[in-house]
Amino acid sequence: MDNGIYNKEVVCREFGYGWNDLYEKLCGELEPYNAKIMQAKEKYGNLTVYLDEYDKKAYEIVQKYYVLSQYICEQCGNKGIARQDLYYIRTLCDDCYNLEKKKYDI
Ligand SMILES: [Zn+2]
Repeated sequence: MDNGIYNKEVVCREFGYGWNDLYEKLCGELEPYNAKIMQAKEKYGNLTVYLDEYDKKAYEIVQKYYVLSQYICEQCGNKGIARQDLYYIRTLCDDCYNLEKKKYDI
């Protein structure tokens, strides 16, 4: 596979395309540290990343992106907010939110 920022092989990656940029920046910032990403997923509307070992600096970076993801639509990357009234909490922009509501007839 690719080297560069993609050499932090992710065992499990479960989140929408809207967070791709965010995730790539996170990988870039983690580059100088030893901690490897074991899992990256959407959880309660946040980009949640698990590292293979505890490194204070790396952990702070992960936390920073966890917070940033609360304002970015997971589906499309536009500005989003946490939607509490879907089948589970998701961070979405107005358009994606309305689409989801239609899809699930909420
Ligand atoms: Zn969206």
